[in-house]
Amino acid sequence: MEIAPPDPVTDLESKNPILLLLLGLVTSALALATVWGINLASDDFNLMGLYMLWIIPVGALLVGVAAGSGYGLGSWWTGVRISRNLLLLVLLLQIAAYFAAQYIDYLHLLSQIGPEGEDPGFLTFFDWSTRQIQFKGESDSDYGDPLGAWGYAFRALELGGFVLGGLVVPLALKAKPYCEQCQVYMRTRDLVVLPASTPTRKFKRKDTDALEAWQAENEVAHQAGMDLLERIWQAAGNRQTGVINDIVSEHKPHAKETGKLSVRIVLSVSTCPGCAKGRMFAASLTGHGNDIHRQELGGVDLSDDLTRQLS
Ligand SMILES: [Zn+2]
Repeated sequence: MEIAPPDPVTDLESKNPILLLLLGLVTSALALATVWGINLASDDFNLMGLYMLWIIPVGALLVGVAAGSGYGLGSWWTGVRISRNLLLLVLLLQIAAYFAAQYIDYLHLLSQIGPEGEDPGFLTFFDWSTRQIQFKGESDSDYGDPLGAWGYAFRALELGGFVLGGLVVPLALKAKPYCEQCQVYMRTRDLVVLPASTPTRKFKRKDTDALEAWQAENEVAHQAGMDLLERIWQAAGNRQTGVINDIVSEHKPHAKETGKLSVRIVLSVSTCPGCAKGRMFAASLTGHGNDIHRQELGGVDLSDDLTRQLS
């Protein structure tokens, strides 16, 4: 018998996702156990049944995010990239976890009935508990009527929220820069913030001249920022580390003032911890606090020597 030599291509693809899956199952179990624990401890609060505007299942979404976080963490630690197939698997596992929780709920009911009582069977129990779904009124004792068949609509919202929530963390990781060759996520840091607007100014209400002058100035400042970025892309393409370093060291000391501008450009670099692969990319940020709008401004792959100098 002959043993075939290892195939480098399949070897590259065969990083084992078992640890990632196990970690996801653990966080799923913990999240659902928490929901169950809360249900047991209080008779009228159900985290999974928390809705916003009647139909947005925020509770189920949040529990789903917690449940699916393990898949994301596992991907980050092991370097197994979240592929489309893996996302599909996570989706199926989330559905399975949801029904496993329902089944445990059913077993719990059986344990309370005791051996003498009649076992309704899981499906009957599930149907009954779905039709029993009801909305809580203003006061604690004020319940609406059970929703009956409509309960299934809310069952679907709950399941949908839980499953979608579970995909949030894995999807966030999928968007992260990744080195195919070393099968690890790249490390990202901000290099510098460049100005792309003038400082905000106060005007008298009717002073349109001053406003127009300021708007013109603002446009010039924005163009200057974009020109600066263009120079950086060109320097990166021509391997002119000196040019990039000069721009960075010129603007770095002013990070605080630049951060206060209404529009600024953040230049970031992602480098692979395993090899010399690197990528530089930029985004323009508008606004402050909770209201920051981010617009990607493209990026370039870095040459090996540039990666080494910038990492
Ligand atoms: Zn690499």
